[in-house]
Amino acid sequence: MTLSGDAPGAVRNPYLVERLQGFGTTIFAEMSALAVATGSINLGQGYPDADGPREVVDAAIAAIRAGDNQYPPGPGIAPLRAAVAEHQARFWGLVFDPDTEVLVTAGATEGMAATLLALLEVGDEVVTFEPYYDSYAACIAMAGAQRRVVTLRPPDYSFTVDALRAAVTPRTRVLVLNSPHNPTGKVFARAELEVIASVCVEHDITAVTDEVYEHLVYDGEHIPLATLPGMRDRTVTISSAGKTFSMTGWKTGWVCAQPDLIEAVRTVKQFLTYVHGAPFQHAAAAGLRLPDAYFEDFAADLASKRDLLSGGLADAGFTVYPSSGTYFVTVDIRPLGATDGLEFCRSLPERGGVVAVPTVVFYDDVAAGAPLVRFMFGKRREVLEDAVTRLKALAR
Ligand code: PMP
Ligand code: GLN
Repeated sequence: MTLSGDAPGAVRNPYLVERLQGFGTTIFAEMSALAVATGSINLGQGYPDADGPREVVDAAIAAIRAGDNQYPPGPGIAPLRAAVAEHQARFWGLVFDPDTEVLVTAGATEGMAATLLALLEVGDEVVTFEPYYDSYAACIAMAGAQRRVVTLRPPDYSFTVDALRAAVTPRTRVLVLNSPHNPTGKVFARAELEVIASVCVEHDITAVTDEVYEHLVYDGEHIPLATLPGMRDRTVTISSAGKTFSMTGWKTGWVCAQPDLIEAVRTVKQFLTYVHGAPFQHAAAAGLRLPDAYFEDFAADLASKRDLLSGGLADAGFTVYPSSGTYFVTVDIRPLGATDGLEFCRSLPERGGVVAVPTVVFYDDVAAGAPLVRFMFGKRREVLEDAVTRLKALAR
């Protein structure tokens, strides 16, 4: 989309231009294009290089063959809403009514967009932690709201209660929490969630949680914010099938919340995509009902890949920060004599044949993020080993 200028078809609405200024091509698109152009190993954009479970693939194919190829119902197909409700109860002890408290969306991305557009008025403020996932900032801006960030600081990406309290003002309407956290791999601990919950309750803030990595946890445990006292009815819980079933291109997600909140999100959602991906909804339902062993084996495999890549990055000379979840591990590049992560990542494909993501693009406090770089470990072992060999050669 052209946001300004004289080109035919340029968006001339100054309001839109102002809201979206600074949002060019996403870092993921830029870095994946660089990987293709240079033939590098892509440890940038977060997608696995092996497909998810056979049962899930078969369910999608069966749904297509059975003729489930027309518009699904607005809230999502009933079997998926039921499977989401069952999953929330089975793993997290959260009880949602599949008819009034679950909404199927085109990935977590649409769930987040519809939620923020539904809840925010122009001038409202949103508290979130930085580094933040890029779509939150864009959606907050599209809603005409402002973000106020709390910086997570390495090595453990912790935050202070004072910093959180300082970010809250009378205009704060929403708090966005992503745990397990992209890009840091942090899994928020119960004590941290208790602080966040108490601030939400005290200031009557609605929490919106992005839990797409809920099953990618290697140390500690995933605790949905909605399970904390006082949070169930003030939290919009968002997740998706992409990461859990290694099918990031299927873009099938869901939102769980109390009926009034779901109604508001559904109202917006119907004018974004209306509905999407009928066969993939059947497949996601099949995935959510897989036995515990699937989820356990999946996390164990990724934990061993986390160890492989983290160890390799340390051997290559980086300062490696612990990752407890997600696909990602972050490093400080300064031991290699570099200070600017963006510059480092733009030249790394050419110099080292590996693509990574500079996390500075997810910070308002540029100084805090400048030397930090994210690597993705959800790839086949031989790919990770090759990447480590290349990075070690770079350091010599
Ligand atoms: N949230 C976070 C934190 C992510 O890393 C991603 C990228 N996978 C998404 C949301 C997008 O999820 P989906 O593909 O389901 O839209
Ligand atoms: N979530 C993926 C990541 O963090 C990227 C998805 C996208 O390209 N927007 O790498």
